[in-house]
Amino acid sequence: MKVMTIIGARPQFIKAAVVSRAFGEHRPDVQEIIVHTGQHYDANMSDVFFEELDIPRPDYNLGIGGGTHGQNTGRMIEKLESLMITEKPGWVLVYGDTDSTMAGALAASKLHIPVAHVEAGLRSFNRRMPEEINRILTDHIADLLFVPTESGRKNLINEGISEEKVRMVGDVMYDATLFYRKRARKPDLPNGLDLSDNSFILCTIHRAENTDDPERLKNIFEGLEISGQKIVLPLHPRTRSKVADSGIAFPDNVWVIDPVGYLEMVWLEANCRSVATDSGGVQKEAYFFQKPCSTMRDETEWLELVESGWNTLVGANATKIGNALSGNSSPAYAGFLYGEGHAGKKIVELVSHD
Ligand code: UDP
Repeated sequence: MKVMTIIGARPQFIKAAVVSRAFGEHRPDVQEIIVHTGQHYDANMSDVFFEELDIPRPDYNLGIGGGTHGQNTGRMIEKLESLMITEKPGWVLVYGDTDSTMAGALAASKLHIPVAHVEAGLRSFNRRMPEEINRILTDHIADLLFVPTESGRKNLINEGISEEKVRMVGDVMYDATLFYRKRARKPDLPNGLDLSDNSFILCTIHRAENTDDPERLKNIFEGLEISGQKIVLPLHPRTRSKVADSGIAFPDNVWVIDPVGYLEMVWLEANCRSVATDSGGVQKEAYFFQKPCSTMRDETEWLELVESGWNTLVGANATKIGNALSGNSSPAYAGFLYGEGHAGKKIVELVSHD
């Protein structure tokens, strides 16, 4: 059997690494064709993940990135459709919630190729997020929906998706953390940045609702500044350019570094005191390392983290951010919220079931 994996953005490389490895270990007879849409193309947003995580090199790179959502999605559908016609995969595997996810699902479903969606069922209930539109559309055309959490399963059932298509497998990102934490390595740091006392806060910012709104972006940096904490910020290229456009100066307590590879990110997560982020994946990884997380958004898809007290929604409110980051609370461990580290194996078995 042939499976076509479609990826294009940083978190998808990490998720696909888990499933690719599981194909190799449990179903080496399945031929996996990897298609990189080109959505993320900087070396430190793409190549480094293939090198560090031993992901097989993509069989195809479509080189589509840098355009608007509509331009990218349209060009991806066109190219993916013709590749699917040539390669004739038995399944198409898509991940998460990007334009690559939706384009892959749409192209496949119109060719009557079954689609499996990894990380299905997540909802922020905020339709202004491009990710939310991608998730909803992908879930409604997918044939097999791999949900990481019970709340994901409920969301799908509430939207009328047949329970028969839904499989709760746990979260591939938990599998990734368990596997790669043994290889975690300290990143190169700028002169003067000492992380040896484990007292720093790891921060990431890249969500469009923050980067594309100068007021929110300004408030976030103000909150980071008033926290007075040592903050390490591996900065997404989009955020860097938006910060420059908005004329925001980085506060002195914020150490801005280039995006790091996953193994370095895992080291930072394992060694920080707490996390501040607007990322989906980093919120969960904070929990995997039992670090409190302040989420700089108005809502989250990962409700169980908020309910268990590990995640606090602080929006783009400078005072809330400043207070949350200077506090120091670690609730009781809430158990295995994201499966037990076997999501990749379960996905492979279900997709390659004859
Ligand atoms: N990540 C990384 N290097 C960085 C920042 C993030 O390897 O400099 C990893 C992070 O550990 C997580 C994933 O990228 O596994 C999350 O991706 P991102 O925040 O871009 O997307 P989201 O999860 O919000 O979709």
